[in-house]
Amino acid sequence: MVPMVGVTPRCAVHPNVEADATCRRCGAFVCGVCSTWVMSVLYCADCAARPEVNYLDVFRQGLWGKRDATAWWVGIFSLGFVAGGAWLASVGEWLLAMLLWASAGVGGCFFLGQRWARTGLAVAPVVVGIVAFWKMGPVALVCALLLFISTLKIFLDARNRLFFRVEVSEQDLLRLWDLHVNNPLARTALSLGVASFIIPVFAPFAVLVGALALRKVDPHARPPIGRKEHAMAGIGLGLGAVVVWVLLVTPYFQRLISGWLLP
Ligand SMILES: [Zn+2]
Ligand SMILES: [Zn+2]
Repeated sequence: MVPMVGVTPRCAVHPNVEADATCRRCGAFVCGVCSTWVMSVLYCADCAARPEVNYLDVFRQGLWGKRDATAWWVGIFSLGFVAGGAWLASVGEWLLAMLLWASAGVGGCFFLGQRWARTGLAVAPVVVGIVAFWKMGPVALVCALLLFISTLKIFLDARNRLFFRVEVSEQDLLRLWDLHVNNPLARTALSLGVASFIIPVFAPFAVLVGALALRKVDPHARPPIGRKEHAMAGIGLGLGAVVVWVLLVTPYFQRLISGWLLP
């Protein structure tokens, strides 16, 4: 088939090349080279580079190489291991002391963001567990196994991977973004709603914050603002708590008032 000039759409950037799609945001014709996929949606190169379009990548870049709470905890535990090792050495348990110090070394390098320490931290409980089992029996092995579950979770954690500059799948990144950035006010409303069943003064705040969060919800915005259910649950729980507290308190007041009227 011979392409007819003027009839077939041409790429907005490369006028000599036939366009085979249009950008979802600006509607410009794009060729194969200019077509850029961002979260399964096709954009032209200019639109794809915009922060609101590529909001996940902007989020990723913000956390790339940035130390997370886990790294701080590992650092603090490592200091504890140094002290624990010193105590073991003082009572003559040199082998276990060395193991703790070695673990503290791995933890320290983990805190500093050295890539090998990511794997090192995951396998450290296995090595320590085997030696501790030989020295102290099966209880030590169970403790090491529990520790291994924690270090494995850290190894797989998306936020911690970003600290070590290890790539994270789009799905994991979206989950992380949802947890940290997506309408946090709605999550607060839900927490306040639950808490208002214990502390009644929280109830009006749950309703108010829930209403504010609900107003912000816009699934078609980019980045989208979600958590409609959380905002609505916050309002519902807040109102429910008011009803429960009124029902609880009313008989008490009735008794009090009738006590005054009929002394
Ligand atoms: Zn565009
Ligand atoms: Zn092009």
